[in-house]
Amino acid sequence: MRIVIFGPPGAGKGTQSRLLKERLGLTQVATGDLIRAEIKRGTQLGRTFQTYIEEGKLVPDADIRSIAEQAVARLDYNHFILDGYPRTVQQATWLEAFLAEHHAPLHAVLSLIVPTENIVARLSQRRMHAETGDTYHLTFNPPPADVNPALIQQRPDDRPEAIRERLRVYDEQTLPVRKFYEKDPRYVEISGTGEVQEVHRRLLEVLGRFAPVDRTA
Ligand code: AMP
Repeated sequence: MRIVIFGPPGAGKGTQSRLLKERLGLTQVATGDLIRAEIKRGTQLGRTFQTYIEEGKLVPDADIRSIAEQAVARLDYNHFILDGYPRTVQQATWLEAFLAEHHAPLHAVLSLIVPTENIVARLSQRRMHAETGDTYHLTFNPPPADVNPALIQQRPDDRPEAIRERLRVYDEQTLPVRKFYEKDPRYVEISGTGEVQEVHRRLLEVLGRFAPVDRTA
């Protein structure tokens, strides 16, 4: 299957992608993770990305386009879940053209709907494992006791000023992607509030409408 998971920052795209990945044998292509990996490598490109990401801005379309397309090409254009891409109408247009060119259209665009007040509460309590990228919520999903607390860190872009900027950027640049897909029969809105497993079940149910939910589709 070829899936896009879409939604505002803190909607649970990463958490839900990881569950779908395990359940359906897909590979998660998370552009935020790819960007953070580039920053960790300390490359020139990584240094440029760092400024954008820490301020809560989007990195330039052309830079993320090649990263996302290379990742999808490495997977032979199949069995992936795109998490955090596309985030602008330009990226969506490129993605559709790129997949059409490789005869690999998306099966579904899953749009997680979460009210803004929940988002702020989620993001300010989110912590990430510095090595594995696993995410936790201090109240609802705290890191297990055997994890080294020094490795549990707050993402620089989860600080209050950056959260505000990310939400502004989302409204301005990413919400139009919803319009782009809204009338497309592959586009489905799913409530992202409630227990993680409950949201996971909703997503599986929706995916069942598009293709048999198994590892080979
Ligand atoms: P995420 O981990 O998905 O929340 O992404 C973290 C940050 O990476 C975002 O706030 C952006 O700065 C950057 N980023 C991730 N995906 C994209 C994208 N598709 N286009 C532009 N910037 C992105």
